[in-house]
Amino acid sequence: MKKCISHSGTTIPLEKIFFRKLKTEPLLLKDSGIVYMVECSDCPSVYVGETSQSLKKRISQHSNDVKNSICSTALSSHALENDHKFKFTVVSTFGREENNKKRRILEVINIMKKENTVNYKTDCNHLSDVYTSLLRKC
Ligand SMILES: [Zn+2]
Repeated sequence: MKKCISHSGTTIPLEKIFFRKLKTEPLLLKDSGIVYMVECSDCPSVYVGETSQSLKKRISQHSNDVKNSICSTALSSHALENDHKFKFTVVSTFGREENNKKRRILEVINIMKKENTVNYKTDCNHLSDVYTSLLRKC
């Protein structure tokens, strides 16, 4: 985890500021309120997403969107436009947060930390420029 912000002479991870109670136990497919990442099988791209539903249900929706040629997200658009497949059986998680606003911020932080996301730029539009500049320096 990158150290991002100095606070009282101590450097602490940026995520700790927003999410002091992130659970450390492994997250499961049945869990809800997850920020997750799926890798493309055919290129270095990744998709970072968040869901209030169970992770299993959300991943299933992504998979079905690709199967049914529905460009509902940047993930399905990337898969369909490039004829690429995502690794739906290998999903990474960044954390669990039941609060929708906090979960969206956690998603944006993780989108901005990755240089190879297929996420739309609009996914990060609601984040203040102050935080945007801080994240880009990390
Ligand atoms: Zn790809």
